[in-house]
Amino acid sequence: MHEQWQALIERVLLTPEQIARRVAEMGREITRVYAGKRIGDELICVGILKGAVVFLADLARAIEVPVTFDFMATSSYGASTEHSGVVRILKDLEHDVAGRDVLVVEDIIDSGLTLQYLLQHLESRRPRSLRVAALLDKPERRRVEVPIDFKGFEIPDAFVVGYGLDWNERGRNLPFVAALRPEAYGGA
Ligand code: IMP
Repeated sequence: MHEQWQALIERVLLTPEQIARRVAEMGREITRVYAGKRIGDELICVGILKGAVVFLADLARAIEVPVTFDFMATSSYGASTEHSGVVRILKDLEHDVAGRDVLVVEDIIDSGLTLQYLLQHLESRRPRSLRVAALLDKPERRRVEVPIDFKGFEIPDAFVVGYGLDWNERGRNLPFVAALRPEAYGGA
């Protein structure tokens, strides 16, 4: 399985088992924080398309309070692996989040620019609470400080694919998280 990726991958950083274990723990942490939530006033999980889809699918099933899903999409790096510094909203929320508990679900926090912009945007809609769950954090790459309430793993500065994360839309279905060889994506 996935042999075609072997030439492109430098190393697997997180196995499916490691991811599953941590996502289950995160689900328990989130369940504790939102204990008492009920149907009709669910936790709104806002998945950031497309990278967070796989994480959201697993995380939501590990959360044992009622949730609903909504999605936002922002402009990505395009074919580059560097953030342009400009964030554009390509798809906004479908539901009103005023007075509601909102959990932003992100795949990875890199420069932090996307999350900073999203949080400002969501805050202006006056939710009751606004928190962030991110599977991966690359702290070395941070350009702006952003809060991460529930964090899966810190990883070194490498371009990674798998478990929802892509390289030019490819590799999202890999069940592990792997660092690409720099020569594959034109990095250092
Ligand atoms: P930031 O705005 O620089 O924090 O970037 C956030 C977005 O960039 C993430 O939601 C991902 O879509 C994308 N991204 C950042 N690093 C990687 C990576 O290593 N692999 C794949 N996508 C990445």
